[in-house]
Amino acid sequence: MKIEKTALVTGGSRGIGQSLATHLSKTYSNIITTASSAVSVQKAQEFYLSQNLNNIKVFELNLKDIKSIDGFLSQLKSLSISPDIVLNNAGITNDNISLKMSIEQWSSVIDVNLNGTFYLTKGLLRGMLKKRYGRVVFISSVVASMGNPGQANYCAAKAGLLGLMRSLSLEYASKGITINAISPGFIETDMTAELTDTQRRKMLENIPAGRFGETKHICHAADFLVSEDASYVTGQNIHVNGGLYIT
Ligand code: NAP
Repeated sequence: MKIEKTALVTGGSRGIGQSLATHLSKTYSNIITTASSAVSVQKAQEFYLSQNLNNIKVFELNLKDIKSIDGFLSQLKSLSISPDIVLNNAGITNDNISLKMSIEQWSSVIDVNLNGTFYLTKGLLRGMLKKRYGRVVFISSVVASMGNPGQANYCAAKAGLLGLMRSLSLEYASKGITINAISPGFIETDMTAELTDTQRRKMLENIPAGRFGETKHICHAADFLVSEDASYVTGQNIHVNGGLYIT
């Protein structure tokens, strides 16, 4: 029997988000996930249906666009959908060394990964407050803690999410809502497929586990954080990185 709760996973058309939505759909009755364009919504919905995952519904959401976020929130409201669990997973990179980084490159990453994510979460917290129950998880990154040359925008946004998570956890701890983060290391997805063989080899040398992570490793950490049993865990950042960075 599935637990009668609705979980929202942003960015579920690919990679970690697709695994999270698939994984949670085995435990929870309703899964909402998102993709950033009509084309990727359709592709993602077809994928889930092909896997017989009929309790996963895909919606369009572009975190770069406040109107799209408002539209998505209104859509949920009109369908009387109020997520109990929110996994803020959608994110982008737009790398360059800082001297060459354009304002557009800087802003696009901050807008999607931090500003849009905050605005969406703010809209969803209202429903959780009413129920006095909620689980929010931000997918940050190991580079939020380590830094990474060529990713000043991404590191700033992901570190911003950790500050946001800590502040929200204090604001909502007495309301039955926990707010945590997961910081993945190097996980095999489209996002990391862009790296050259030399970059991958160099990175592997720094991972004590001797292998890259898989999306399932993030799912297992999320499993715990979104469970009812994790009610006393809030304001925490779980690193899932094979030892690449140890706090
Ligand atoms: P991915 O394969 O590139 O997938 C990104 C997801 O975000 C897609 O579903 C994409 O939708 C969605 N997205 C892109 N732009 C968006 C926008 N403007 N508004 C809303 N959604 C948007 O990424 P991933 O590797 O699975 O990473 C997932 C999360 O983990 C990200 O936040 C990433 O920063 C973080 N992370 C990943 C790694 C890693 O090694 N992979 C490491 C640390 C942290 P479309 O298909 O429509 O583009």
